[in-house]
Amino acid sequence: MAEVFRLEQVSKTYKNDGKEFEALRNVSLTIEEGEVFGIIGMSGAGKSTLVRTLNRLEEVSGGKVEFFGQDLATLKPREIRRVRQQIAMIFQSFNLVGQRTVLSNVMQPLRIAGIPGAQRKEKALEMLRIVGLEEKQNEYPARLSGGQRQRVAIARALAADPKVLLCDEATSALDPKMTGEILDLLSEINRTRKLTIVIITHEMSVVEKICDKVAIIDNGELAEAGSVKEIFQNPKSEAARKLVFPSNPFDPSGKQSRLIRLVFDGLSANTPFIAQLVEQTGKKVNILSANTKSVGGIGYGQMVVELPDKKEDQEQIISFFRKGGISVQEVEKP
Ligand code: ADP
Repeated sequence: MAEVFRLEQVSKTYKNDGKEFEALRNVSLTIEEGEVFGIIGMSGAGKSTLVRTLNRLEEVSGGKVEFFGQDLATLKPREIRRVRQQIAMIFQSFNLVGQRTVLSNVMQPLRIAGIPGAQRKEKALEMLRIVGLEEKQNEYPARLSGGQRQRVAIARALAADPKVLLCDEATSALDPKMTGEILDLLSEINRTRKLTIVIITHEMSVVEKICDKVAIIDNGELAEAGSVKEIFQNPKSEAARKLVFPSNPFDPSGKQSRLIRLVFDGLSANTPFIAQLVEQTGKKVNILSANTKSVGGIGYGQMVVELPDKKEDQEQIISFFRKGGISVQEVEKP
């Protein structure tokens, strides 16, 4: 698989009125062709800064960014314009031109690319068909819902056949239903057009729903990166754990008790293993928190349980879970 972006030790320091602020520190990651890649972090973590380095809207202060093997810092203005034509972007605020119709908005990048009139219209209509809004071609953006406006922005972004689509908090202004529809549409476009998609978000639910890989940015640094499945099953960094388990729901009954986290994957998610535990061993556990998620269409689940006080009961229960293919991890008590 070709590497679309390679970031090596990227740093960014903003300088304002003599004050310096380091927004990114030594971030290294690669994004491959055809992936849906999530960049997640809290507000102020540096996500937007990071994404702006991908098309050189922001110059890096250290390290380098490569796009299909070319170091962006070495490109001439004309070459940078060509790169930017291959990297489309959509935003939280849609950024449509209010005085132009839907069709005219979608034709805009084709006008810039110098495509002749008739061809422009044909291409723009094709894009509107893809996003399901052909019948709105003569409307103005103000008369559309937020979800429809974002569809128009997606049609416009796709019109010039980019290699990559960058989505900066593209669903943050939408309600959950519209968010779901836009994410489904992006997922379908990724599949059918083999378009690489980079999604910047502060919401783990967005990453869970459509991303293959994810990078977690915490305070300007890369906390962790990898497949969404791996990070959900075994978050290593503190920042990843906070995103996967947002609250601390533990409330153990006894001071001496031992807590374990059970992590099960798609195969065992639907098995009633707590009932089987009681049936087969006669032992019980106290469920303190349970959480199942669907990642890329496969169910994953986590459960934190409190074990009984007796050591041999604990061992028997743990071995029952392990035999059933469930991963068991010790949990520190709050
Ligand atoms: P995020 O997208 O994760 O919310 P940003 O990349 O927008 O984070 O910002 C990261 C940090 O860099 C923030 O503390 C922000 O205030 C700071 N920052 C962003 N842009 C500038 C700028 N042009 N000048 C100075 N500081 C900036």
